Amino acid sequence: MSDSVVSPDLDETVRGWLDENWDPGLSVEDWWQKVGRAGWAAPHFSPEEGGRGMPRNADARVRSIFAEHGALRPPGGLGLLMAAPTILRHGTEDQIDRHVTPILEGRTNWCQLFSEPGAGSDLAGLSTRAERDGDRWIITGQKVWSSMAHESDYGMLLARTDPDQPKHGGISWFAFALDQPGVTVRPLREMTGEIMFNEVFFDGAICEDRDLIGGMNNGWAVTQSTLFFERTGIGAGGGHAGFPKPGPKGGALGRLAGDAAGDEPEDRYRIVAFPHLIELARRTGRHEDPIVRDKLARLWSFIQTGAWNARRAKAEARHGGGGAIGSISKIAQTRIVKLSVEIAMDLIGAEGLVAEGEEARFVDAFLFAPASSIYGGTDEIQRNICAERILGLPREERADKGLTFAESTRRQQSMRGARA
Ligand SMILES: Cc1cc2nc3c(=O)[nH]c(=O)nc-3n(C[C@H](O)[C@H](O)[C@H](O)COP(=O)(O)OP(=O)(O)OC[C@H]3O[C@@H](n4cnc5c(N)ncnc54)[C@H](O)[C@@H]3O)c2cc1C
Repeated sequence: MSDSVVSPDLDETVRGWLDENWDPGLSVEDWWQKVGRAGWAAPHFSPEEGGRGMPRNADARVRSIFAEHGALRPPGGLGLLMAAPTILRHGTEDQIDRHVTPILEGRTNWCQLFSEPGAGSDLAGLSTRAERDGDRWIITGQKVWSSMAHESDYGMLLARTDPDQPKHGGISWFAFALDQPGVTVRPLREMTGEIMFNEVFFDGAICEDRDLIGGMNNGWAVTQSTLFFERTGIGAGGGHAGFPKPGPKGGALGRLAGDAAGDEPEDRYRIVAFPHLIELARRTGRHEDPIVRDKLARLWSFIQTGAWNARRAKAEARHGGGGAIGSISKIAQTRIVKLSVEIAMDLIGAEGLVAEGEEARFVDAFLFAPASSIYGGTDEIQRNICAERILGLPREERADKGLTFAESTRRQQSMRGARA
Protein backbone atom coordinates (compact mmCIF):
# COMPACT_ATOMS: atom_id res chain seq x y z
CA MET A 1 0.00 0.00 0.00
CA SER A 2 1.25 3.46 -0.94
CA ASP A 3 3.33 5.92 1.02
CA SER A 4 3.05 8.99 -1.16
CA VAL A 5 1.27 12.30 -0.61
CA VAL A 6 -2.12 12.84 -2.32
CA SER A 7 -1.39 14.28 -5.72
CA PRO A 8 -2.86 17.76 -6.36
CA ASP A 9 -4.24 16.55 -9.70
CA LEU A 10 -6.18 13.66 -8.12
CA ASP A 11 -9.55 15.41 -8.64
CA GLU A 12 -8.75 16.02 -12.28
CA THR A 13 -7.64 12.43 -12.86
CA VAL A 14 -10.79 10.98 -11.29
CA ARG A 15 -13.10 13.42 -13.11
CA GLY A 16 -11.35 12.66 -16.39
CA TRP A 17 -11.81 8.94 -15.85
CA LEU A 18 -15.47 9.42 -14.94
CA ASP A 19 -16.07 11.62 -18.02
CA GLU A 20 -14.83 8.77 -20.16
CA ASN A 21 -16.33 5.85 -18.29
CA TRP A 22 -19.42 6.69 -16.20
CA ASP A 23 -22.46 5.16 -17.84
CA PRO A 24 -25.71 5.20 -15.82
CA GLY A 25 -27.11 2.61 -18.24
CA LEU A 26 -24.69 -0.10 -17.07
CA SER A 27 -25.78 -2.62 -14.47
CA VAL A 28 -24.27 -2.10 -11.00
CA GLU A 29 -22.35 -5.33 -11.55
CA ASP A 30 -20.75 -4.13 -14.81
CA TRP A 31 -20.04 -0.66 -13.44
CA TRP A 32 -18.31 -1.98 -10.32
CA GLN A 33 -16.27 -4.37 -12.41
CA LYS A 34 -15.03 -1.40 -14.44
CA VAL A 35 -14.34 0.62 -11.28
CA GLY A 36 -12.50 -2.27 -9.60
CA ARG A 37 -10.40 -3.04 -12.67
CA ALA A 38 -9.40 0.63 -12.95
CA GLY A 39 -8.13 0.57 -9.34
CA TRP A 40 -10.71 2.99 -7.89
CA ALA A 41 -12.25 0.61 -5.31
CA ALA A 42 -9.17 0.90 -3.07
CA PRO A 43 -6.87 3.48 -4.68
CA HIS A 44 -4.44 3.15 -1.74
CA PHE A 45 -3.67 -0.47 -2.63
CA SER A 46 -0.63 -0.77 -4.87
CA PRO A 47 -1.27 -1.40 -8.60
CA GLU A 48 -0.19 -5.06 -8.09
CA GLU A 49 -2.83 -5.34 -5.33
CA GLY A 50 -5.57 -3.90 -7.53
CA GLY A 51 -5.27 -0.25 -6.51
CA ARG A 52 -3.50 2.86 -7.79
CA GLY A 53 -0.68 3.25 -5.30
CA MET A 54 -2.21 6.39 -3.78
CA PRO A 55 -2.07 7.44 -0.11
CA ARG A 56 -4.78 6.11 2.23
CA ASN A 57 -6.69 9.39 2.43
CA ALA A 58 -7.22 9.37 -1.36
CA ASP A 59 -10.00 6.77 -0.96
CA ALA A 60 -12.48 9.11 0.71
CA ARG A 61 -11.69 11.88 -1.78
CA VAL A 62 -12.23 9.54 -4.74
CA ARG A 63 -15.60 8.47 -3.34
CA SER A 64 -16.75 12.07 -2.93
CA ILE A 65 -15.69 12.94 -6.48
CA PHE A 66 -17.72 9.98 -7.77
CA ALA A 67 -20.73 11.29 -5.79
CA GLU A 68 -20.23 14.92 -6.95
CA HIS A 69 -20.16 13.60 -10.51
CA GLY A 70 -23.46 11.78 -9.97
CA ALA A 71 -21.76 8.41 -10.48
CA LEU A 72 -22.34 5.33 -8.34
CA ARG A 73 -19.51 5.14 -5.80
CA PRO A 74 -17.08 2.21 -5.69
CA PRO A 75 -18.25 -0.87 -3.74
CA GLY A 76 -17.68 -0.87 0.02
CA GLY A 77 -18.35 -3.01 3.06
CA LEU A 78 -16.36 -5.14 5.50
CA GLY A 79 -14.74 -7.10 2.67
CA LEU A 80 -12.95 -3.99 1.49
CA LEU A 81 -12.29 -2.66 4.97
CA MET A 82 -10.93 -5.83 6.56
CA ALA A 83 -10.92 -9.03 4.49
CA ALA A 84 -9.08 -7.69 1.44
CA PRO A 85 -6.16 -6.07 3.33
CA THR A 86 -5.87 -9.12 5.61
CA ILE A 87 -5.74 -11.54 2.66
CA LEU A 88 -3.29 -9.26 0.85
CA ARG A 89 -1.02 -9.39 3.87
CA HIS A 90 -1.33 -13.09 4.75
CA GLY A 91 -2.81 -14.90 1.73
CA THR A 92 -1.26 -16.75 -1.20
CA GLU A 93 -1.40 -15.52 -4.81
CA ASP A 94 -4.27 -17.92 -5.46
CA GLN A 95 -6.22 -16.67 -2.41
CA ILE A 96 -5.66 -13.06 -3.41
CA ASP A 97 -6.94 -13.78 -6.94
CA ARG A 98 -9.98 -15.70 -5.76
CA HIS A 99 -11.01 -13.34 -2.94
CA VAL A 100 -9.50 -9.85 -3.21
CA THR A 101 -10.37 -9.28 -6.87
CA PRO A 102 -14.12 -10.07 -6.36
CA ILE A 103 -14.17 -7.73 -3.34
CA LEU A 104 -12.66 -4.89 -5.38
CA GLU A 105 -15.23 -5.51 -8.11
CA GLY A 106 -18.16 -5.61 -5.65
CA ARG A 107 -18.95 -9.23 -6.51
CA THR A 108 -18.87 -10.47 -2.90
CA ASN A 109 -20.03 -9.10 0.43
CA TRP A 110 -18.26 -10.17 3.62
CA CYS A 111 -19.02 -10.33 7.33
CA GLN A 112 -16.81 -10.90 10.34
CA LEU A 113 -17.37 -14.19 12.17
CA PHE A 114 -15.21 -13.62 15.26
CA SER A 115 -17.38 -13.10 18.38
CA GLU A 116 -19.09 -15.97 20.15
CA PRO A 117 -21.45 -16.12 23.15
CA GLY A 118 -18.46 -17.03 25.37
CA ALA A 119 -15.72 -15.12 23.53
CA GLY A 120 -15.99 -11.39 22.79
CA SER A 121 -13.30 -9.37 24.53
CA ASP A 122 -11.44 -12.58 25.21
CA LEU A 123 -11.58 -13.45 21.53
CA ALA A 124 -8.90 -16.14 21.77
CA GLY A 125 -11.27 -18.06 24.06
CA LEU A 126 -13.45 -19.03 21.09
CA SER A 127 -14.72 -22.59 20.82
CA THR A 128 -16.11 -22.95 17.27
CA ARG A 129 -14.20 -25.96 15.92
CA ALA A 130 -12.66 -26.67 12.53
CA GLU A 131 -11.66 -30.33 12.15
CA ARG A 132 -9.61 -31.53 9.22
CA ASP A 133 -11.20 -34.05 6.88
CA GLY A 134 -8.84 -34.66 3.94
CA ASP A 135 -8.54 -31.44 1.96
CA ARG A 136 -11.41 -29.73 3.74
CA TRP A 137 -12.44 -28.62 7.22
CA ILE A 138 -15.66 -29.43 9.08
CA ILE A 139 -16.95 -26.45 11.06
CA THR A 140 -19.12 -26.80 14.19
CA GLY A 141 -20.11 -24.09 16.66
CA GLN A 142 -21.76 -20.68 16.95
CA LYS A 143 -20.98 -17.00 16.35
CA VAL A 144 -22.96 -13.97 17.49
CA TRP A 145 -23.13 -10.23 16.71
CA SER A 146 -22.22 -11.01 13.10
CA SER A 147 -23.07 -7.73 11.37
CA MET A 148 -24.61 -8.14 7.90
CA ALA A 149 -24.16 -11.95 7.91
CA HIS A 150 -27.69 -12.25 6.49
CA GLU A 151 -26.54 -10.32 3.39
CA SER A 152 -23.05 -11.74 3.10
CA ASP A 153 -21.53 -14.29 0.75
CA TYR A 154 -18.35 -14.87 2.78
CA GLY A 155 -17.30 -14.61 6.40
CA MET A 156 -13.91 -14.02 8.00
CA LEU A 157 -14.16 -17.08 10.21
CA LEU A 158 -12.00 -17.75 13.24
CA ALA A 159 -12.11 -21.35 14.42
CA ARG A 160 -10.19 -23.59 16.78
CA THR A 161 -8.02 -26.04 14.87
CA ASP A 162 -6.01 -27.39 17.82
CA PRO A 163 -7.48 -27.41 21.36
CA ASP A 164 -4.27 -28.97 22.69
CA GLN A 165 -2.31 -25.77 22.17
CA PRO A 166 -2.49 -22.64 24.39
CA LYS A 167 -5.60 -20.70 23.43
CA HIS A 168 -3.89 -18.17 21.14
CA GLY A 169 -1.91 -20.91 19.40
CA GLY A 170 -4.60 -23.28 18.13
CA ILE A 171 -6.76 -20.89 16.08
CA SER A 172 -7.02 -20.52 12.28
CA TRP A 173 -8.52 -17.85 9.99
CA PHE A 174 -10.75 -19.05 7.13
CA ALA A 175 -12.44 -17.40 4.15
CA PHE A 176 -15.75 -19.13 4.71
CA ALA A 177 -18.58 -19.42 2.13
CA LEU A 178 -21.86 -18.85 3.98
CA ASP A 179 -24.26 -20.14 1.38
CA GLN A 180 -24.21 -23.90 2.11
CA PRO A 181 -26.07 -26.57 4.11
CA GLY A 182 -24.96 -26.70 7.75
CA VAL A 183 -25.08 -22.89 8.14
CA THR A 184 -28.01 -21.14 9.82
CA VAL A 185 -28.05 -17.35 9.97
CA ARG A 186 -30.57 -15.98 12.46
CA PRO A 187 -31.05 -12.19 12.47
CA LEU A 188 -31.31 -10.30 15.79
CA ARG A 189 -33.48 -7.18 16.09
CA GLU A 190 -32.00 -4.10 17.78
CA MET A 191 -33.82 -1.59 19.96
CA THR A 192 -33.87 0.77 16.98
CA GLY A 193 -36.13 -1.77 15.24
CA GLU A 194 -33.45 -2.52 12.62
CA ILE A 195 -31.82 -5.83 11.84
CA MET A 196 -28.09 -5.52 11.40
CA PHE A 197 -26.46 -8.36 13.28
CA ASN A 198 -27.07 -12.08 13.51
CA GLU A 199 -26.37 -15.33 15.24
CA VAL A 200 -24.65 -17.81 12.93
CA PHE A 201 -24.75 -21.56 13.64
CA PHE A 202 -22.41 -24.11 12.01
CA ASP A 203 -23.45 -27.73 12.08
CA GLY A 204 -20.95 -29.72 10.02
CA ALA A 205 -20.42 -26.88 7.51
CA ILE A 206 -17.51 -27.20 5.08
CA CYS A 207 -14.51 -24.99 4.34
CA GLU A 208 -11.94 -26.01 1.76
CA ASP A 209 -8.31 -26.19 2.79
CA ARG A 210 -7.38 -23.72 0.07
CA ASP A 211 -9.42 -21.12 1.99
CA LEU A 212 -7.34 -21.38 5.16
CA ILE A 213 -5.59 -17.98 5.22
CA GLY A 214 -2.13 -17.50 6.74
CA GLY A 215 -1.48 -21.12 7.68
CA MET A 216 -2.87 -23.61 10.18
CA ASN A 217 -2.88 -22.47 13.83
CA ASN A 218 -1.54 -19.08 12.78
CA GLY A 219 -4.96 -17.42 12.99
CA TRP A 220 -4.11 -15.20 15.94
CA ALA A 221 -1.41 -13.38 13.98
CA VAL A 222 -3.75 -13.02 10.99
CA THR A 223 -6.51 -11.76 13.30
CA GLN A 224 -4.26 -9.03 14.69
CA SER A 225 -4.10 -7.60 11.16
CA THR A 226 -7.89 -7.84 10.70
CA LEU A 227 -8.55 -6.15 14.05
CA PHE A 228 -6.07 -3.41 13.25
CA PHE A 229 -7.76 -2.71 9.89
CA GLU A 230 -11.11 -2.72 11.71
CA ARG A 231 -10.06 -0.28 14.43
CA THR A 232 -8.31 2.11 12.13
CA GLY A 233 -11.25 1.91 9.69
CA ILE A 234 -13.70 2.75 12.47
CA GLY A 235 -11.37 5.47 13.72
CA ALA A 236 -11.35 6.99 10.25
CA GLY A 237 -15.14 7.19 10.25
CA GLY A 238 -16.42 3.66 9.82
CA GLY A 239 -14.78 2.66 6.58
CA HIS A 240 -16.81 2.68 3.43
CA ALA A 241 -20.49 2.27 4.00
CA GLY A 242 -21.66 -0.09 1.30
CA PHE A 243 -24.53 1.51 -0.56
CA PRO A 244 -25.83 -0.27 -2.41
CA LYS A 245 -24.47 -3.48 -0.94
CA PRO A 246 -21.96 -5.54 -2.89
CA GLY A 247 -22.45 -9.21 -3.77
CA PRO A 248 -25.43 -11.25 -5.01
CA LYS A 249 -27.14 -11.30 -1.60
CA GLY A 250 -26.95 -7.50 -1.35
CA GLY A 251 -29.51 -7.51 -4.16
CA ALA A 252 -28.24 -4.55 -6.21
CA LEU A 253 -25.98 -6.09 -8.84
CA GLY A 254 -28.75 -6.35 -11.43
CA ARG A 255 -29.99 -2.76 -10.96
CA LEU A 256 -29.06 0.12 -13.23
CA ALA A 257 -26.00 1.94 -11.89
CA GLY A 258 -27.73 5.27 -12.61
CA ASP A 259 -30.66 4.32 -10.32
CA ALA A 260 -28.42 2.97 -7.56
CA ALA A 261 -26.30 6.15 -7.61
CA GLY A 262 -29.19 8.03 -5.99
CA ASP A 263 -29.34 5.70 -2.94
CA GLU A 264 -28.63 7.23 0.44
CA PRO A 265 -25.77 5.76 2.45
CA GLU A 266 -27.02 3.61 5.30
CA ASP A 267 -24.32 4.66 7.73
CA ARG A 268 -26.40 5.81 10.65
CA TYR A 269 -23.75 8.15 11.97
CA ARG A 270 -23.72 10.10 8.73
CA ILE A 271 -26.84 11.87 9.93
CA VAL A 272 -24.96 13.30 12.92
CA ALA A 273 -21.97 14.38 10.83
CA PHE A 274 -20.78 17.90 11.65
CA PRO A 275 -22.52 19.79 8.80
CA HIS A 276 -25.86 18.16 9.70
CA LEU A 277 -25.49 19.27 13.31
CA ILE A 278 -24.80 22.86 12.26
CA GLU A 279 -27.87 22.72 10.04
CA LEU A 280 -29.93 21.30 12.92
CA ALA A 281 -28.67 24.07 15.26
CA ARG A 282 -29.81 26.68 12.70
CA ARG A 283 -33.15 24.96 12.11
CA THR A 284 -33.89 24.87 15.84
CA GLY A 285 -32.73 28.50 16.30
CA ARG A 286 -29.98 27.45 18.75
CA HIS A 287 -26.96 28.35 16.65
CA GLU A 288 -26.24 31.48 18.73
CA ASP A 289 -26.56 29.62 22.04
CA PRO A 290 -23.06 29.77 23.68
CA ILE A 291 -23.40 26.31 25.23
CA VAL A 292 -24.33 24.74 21.89
CA ARG A 293 -21.48 26.63 20.17
CA ASP A 294 -19.04 25.49 22.83
CA LYS A 295 -20.06 21.85 22.37
CA LEU A 296 -19.84 22.14 18.59
CA ALA A 297 -16.36 23.66 18.86
CA ARG A 298 -15.27 20.81 21.14
CA LEU A 299 -16.70 18.27 18.70
CA TRP A 300 -14.90 19.93 15.78
CA SER A 301 -11.56 19.73 17.59
CA PHE A 302 -12.14 16.04 18.40
CA ILE A 303 -12.97 15.35 14.75
CA GLN A 304 -9.82 17.10 13.51
CA THR A 305 -7.55 15.41 16.05
CA GLY A 306 -9.21 12.06 15.31
CA ALA A 307 -8.62 12.51 11.58
CA TRP A 308 -4.91 13.31 12.08
CA ASN A 309 -4.50 10.36 14.40
CA ALA A 310 -6.28 8.07 11.91
CA ARG A 311 -3.71 9.16 9.31
CA ARG A 312 -0.89 8.23 11.67
CA ALA A 313 -2.54 4.84 12.16
CA LYS A 314 -2.82 4.30 8.41
CA ALA A 315 0.83 5.26 7.94
CA GLU A 316 1.74 2.71 10.59
CA ALA A 317 -0.40 0.10 8.79
CA ARG A 318 1.40 0.84 5.52
CA HIS A 319 4.68 -0.02 7.19
CA GLY A 320 3.29 -3.35 8.36
CA GLY A 321 2.60 -2.21 11.93
CA GLY A 322 -0.41 -3.14 14.01
CA GLY A 323 0.31 -1.11 17.12
CA ALA A 324 -1.79 0.82 19.58
CA ILE A 325 -2.51 3.93 17.49
CA GLY A 326 -5.55 2.15 16.04
CA SER A 327 -6.86 1.77 19.61
CA ILE A 328 -6.54 5.51 20.19
CA SER A 329 -8.44 6.11 16.93
CA LYS A 330 -11.20 3.79 18.03
CA ILE A 331 -11.58 5.41 21.47
CA ALA A 332 -11.57 8.85 19.82
CA GLN A 333 -14.30 7.77 17.41
CA THR A 334 -16.49 6.60 20.31
CA ARG A 335 -16.17 10.06 21.93
CA ILE A 336 -16.99 11.76 18.63
CA VAL A 337 -20.10 9.62 18.10
CA LYS A 338 -21.33 10.07 21.65
CA LEU A 339 -20.78 13.84 21.70
CA SER A 340 -22.45 14.17 18.29
CA VAL A 341 -25.64 12.38 19.35
CA GLU A 342 -25.64 14.27 22.67
CA ILE A 343 -25.61 17.57 20.76
CA ALA A 344 -28.33 16.33 18.38
CA MET A 345 -30.58 15.26 21.26
CA ASP A 346 -29.96 18.53 23.10
CA LEU A 347 -31.06 20.41 19.97
CA ILE A 348 -34.12 18.27 19.26
CA GLY A 349 -35.20 18.12 22.93
CA ALA A 350 -38.32 16.32 24.11
CA GLU A 351 -39.80 16.47 20.61
CA GLY A 352 -37.42 13.62 19.79
CA LEU A 353 -39.86 11.27 21.53
CA VAL A 354 -42.39 11.74 18.75
CA ALA A 355 -40.01 12.76 15.96
CA GLU A 356 -40.62 11.76 12.37
CA GLY A 357 -38.64 12.14 9.13
CA GLU A 358 -35.13 13.67 9.35
CA GLU A 359 -35.41 14.25 13.13
CA ALA A 360 -36.33 10.56 13.66
CA ARG A 361 -33.06 9.59 12.00
CA PHE A 362 -31.16 11.59 14.65
CA VAL A 363 -33.05 9.63 17.31
CA ASP A 364 -32.12 6.37 15.56
CA ALA A 365 -28.45 7.40 15.61
CA PHE A 366 -28.81 8.27 19.32
CA LEU A 367 -30.25 4.82 20.12
CA PHE A 368 -27.46 3.11 18.18
CA ALA A 369 -24.64 5.23 19.65
CA PRO A 370 -23.93 3.09 22.77
CA ALA A 371 -22.78 0.35 20.36
CA SER A 372 -19.80 2.49 19.32
CA SER A 373 -17.96 1.74 22.57
CA ILE A 374 -18.53 -2.01 22.07
CA TYR A 375 -18.06 -3.02 18.43
CA GLY A 376 -14.54 -3.41 17.09
CA GLY A 377 -13.41 -4.21 20.66
CA THR A 378 -14.75 -2.34 23.70
CA ASP A 379 -13.24 0.92 24.93
CA GLU A 380 -12.03 -0.87 28.08
CA ILE A 381 -10.07 -3.33 25.94
CA GLN A 382 -8.63 -0.51 23.78
CA ARG A 383 -7.50 1.23 26.98
CA ASN A 384 -5.84 -1.99 28.14
CA ILE A 385 -3.97 -2.13 24.81
CA CYS A 386 -2.82 1.50 25.19
CA ALA A 387 -1.80 0.85 28.80
CA GLU A 388 0.33 -2.15 27.87
CA ARG A 389 1.72 -1.16 24.47
CA ILE A 390 2.11 2.64 24.85
CA LEU A 391 2.53 3.21 28.58
CA GLY A 392 4.38 -0.06 29.17
CA LEU A 393 2.22 -1.00 32.19
CA PRO A 394 2.27 -4.65 33.32
CA ARG A 395 0.16 -7.11 31.33
CA GLU A 396 -3.12 -8.31 32.77
CA GLU A 397 -3.00 -11.43 34.91
CA ARG A 398 -4.23 -14.52 33.03
CA ALA A 399 -5.77 -17.43 34.86
CA ASP A 400 -5.19 -19.70 31.84
CA LYS A 401 -1.47 -18.96 31.47
CA GLY A 402 0.57 -22.06 30.60
CA LEU A 403 -2.56 -24.15 29.98
CA THR A 404 -3.79 -25.53 26.68
CA PHE A 405 -7.26 -24.45 25.55
CA ALA A 406 -8.63 -27.93 26.41
CA GLU A 407 -7.10 -27.82 29.91
CA SER A 408 -8.40 -24.35 30.66
CA THR A 409 -11.89 -25.30 29.41
CA ARG A 410 -11.86 -28.36 31.69
CA ARG A 411 -10.73 -26.23 34.63
CA GLN A 412 -13.52 -23.68 34.03
CA GLN A 413 -16.09 -26.47 33.78
CA SER A 414 -14.96 -28.06 37.04
CA MET A 415 -15.00 -24.62 38.79
CA ARG A 416 -18.54 -24.06 37.53
CA GLY A 417 -19.48 -27.54 38.74
CA ALA A 418 -17.99 -26.81 42.18
CA ARG A 419 -19.97 -23.54 42.46
CA ALA A 420 -23.27 -25.16 41.41
C1 LIG B 1 -23.20 -3.11 16.82
C2 LIG B 1 -22.24 -4.24 17.00
C3 LIG B 1 -21.75 -4.89 15.88
C4 LIG B 1 -20.86 -5.96 16.03
N1 LIG B 1 -20.44 -6.61 14.91
C5 LIG B 1 -19.65 -7.69 15.02
C6 LIG B 1 -19.29 -8.45 13.87
O1 LIG B 1 -19.67 -8.12 12.75
N2 LIG B 1 -18.53 -9.55 14.03
C7 LIG B 1 -18.07 -9.95 15.24
O2 LIG B 1 -17.36 -10.94 15.30
N3 LIG B 1 -18.40 -9.25 16.37
C8 LIG B 1 -19.18 -8.14 16.30
N4 LIG B 1 -19.54 -7.44 17.43
C9 LIG B 1 -19.12 -7.97 18.73
C10 LIG B 1 -18.14 -7.12 19.51
O3 LIG B 1 -16.86 -7.16 18.93
C11 LIG B 1 -18.14 -7.66 20.96
O4 LIG B 1 -19.44 -7.38 21.49
C12 LIG B 1 -17.09 -7.00 21.81
O5 LIG B 1 -15.82 -7.43 21.42
C13 LIG B 1 -17.29 -7.25 23.31
O6 LIG B 1 -17.42 -8.62 23.58
P1 LIG B 1 -18.62 -9.17 24.49
O7 LIG B 1 -19.90 -8.62 23.94
O8 LIG B 1 -18.46 -10.66 24.58
O9 LIG B 1 -18.41 -8.52 25.92
P2 LIG B 1 -17.54 -9.06 27.13
O10 LIG B 1 -16.22 -9.49 26.65
O11 LIG B 1 -18.37 -10.05 27.89
O12 LIG B 1 -17.35 -7.75 27.98
C14 LIG B 1 -18.36 -7.21 28.85
C15 LIG B 1 -17.77 -5.96 29.52
O13 LIG B 1 -16.61 -6.30 30.30
C16 LIG B 1 -15.48 -5.54 29.90
N5 LIG B 1 -14.27 -6.35 29.93
C17 LIG B 1 -14.13 -7.61 29.45
N6 LIG B 1 -12.85 -8.02 29.61
C18 LIG B 1 -12.16 -6.96 30.16
C19 LIG B 1 -10.82 -6.76 30.54
N7 LIG B 1 -9.91 -7.71 30.38
N8 LIG B 1 -10.48 -5.55 31.07
C20 LIG B 1 -11.40 -4.56 31.24
N9 LIG B 1 -12.71 -4.71 30.90
C21 LIG B 1 -13.08 -5.89 30.37
C22 LIG B 1 -15.79 -5.13 28.46
O14 LIG B 1 -15.05 -4.04 28.05
C23 LIG B 1 -17.29 -4.89 28.51
O15 LIG B 1 -17.55 -3.59 28.99
C24 LIG B 1 -20.42 -6.36 17.33
C25 LIG B 1 -20.91 -5.68 18.47
C26 LIG B 1 -21.81 -4.64 18.31
C27 LIG B 1 -22.31 -3.95 19.54
